[in-house]
Amino acid sequence: MSEELRRTLRVYEADYPGQPLVARRADLEVINQLRAQLDLPLVDAALREIGSAAEADPPEPPPPAAPDHSAAREIYRAYLAKVAELRPHRAYADRVARATSGSGPTPVRPLATMGTGGGPLLCDHCNKPIVLEGGPHHGVPADAAWAKNPGGDWKSWVLGGLVVEIVTNGTLRIYHGYPGRDARQCCNAARRADEQAQERHAPQRGAETFHALRMFLEHEFPDRTELERVDLVNDILNTVFSYDPGIGVNRPSGAS
Ligand SMILES: [Zn+2]
Repeated sequence: MSEELRRTLRVYEADYPGQPLVARRADLEVINQLRAQLDLPLVDAALREIGSAAEADPPEPPPPAAPDHSAAREIYRAYLAKVAELRPHRAYADRVARATSGSGPTPVRPLATMGTGGGPLLCDHCNKPIVLEGGPHHGVPADAAWAKNPGGDWKSWVLGGLVVEIVTNGTLRIYHGYPGRDARQCCNAARRADEQAQERHAPQRGAETFHALRMFLEHEFPDRTELERVDLVNDILNTVFSYDPGIGVNRPSGAS
């Protein structure tokens, strides 16, 4: 009996692919009835056994690979290293700017003692100390005058002008002179040279780097706001890729 059923089933299954669609539907019913009687798995319209691996849904495509943040991560590391390198110089620039700020005469102590190794602040253009004007120390460099009259918080006018500047990377610049057009004055010569260096600097990284950093920071700092992350992206791009004016001639104690 079952042998005959098997034979019938084989005939139906062999003929099935060549049948018109309408006939197939009826044949499929017969095929599955025969299969049920023979205790065989039922088949679908393509004669695939239902429940077999072939019939099962195709495997889920693998999830898209996690975005590759390695390039952005490298840039971020370079940024952190640069920030760490600049930190003492930026803090120093703030201290010097505060100590020498204000209108009227300039306190002599910072001019004479806040430079590298506790020496005088030097002009970043000509590398010479600031010279005092008026009074008993007229025409004398700040450190020499201070050596003769150390202590206290005495002030003096400065001969030929003094510029205390914090440049784009947050570090200090000290110059002789009065800002203006006179290119013989240290501050103006330095500004011109700085502008030329900036013009020579290659353009910043483009939108692609901006986007890669944004994606990386979104992954790295999900708790920060979008605005905070965009600010950080801009800081990273400025710090790592913008024109780097370097560190001035005056250095805080303990820094190279
Ligand atoms: Zn100078």
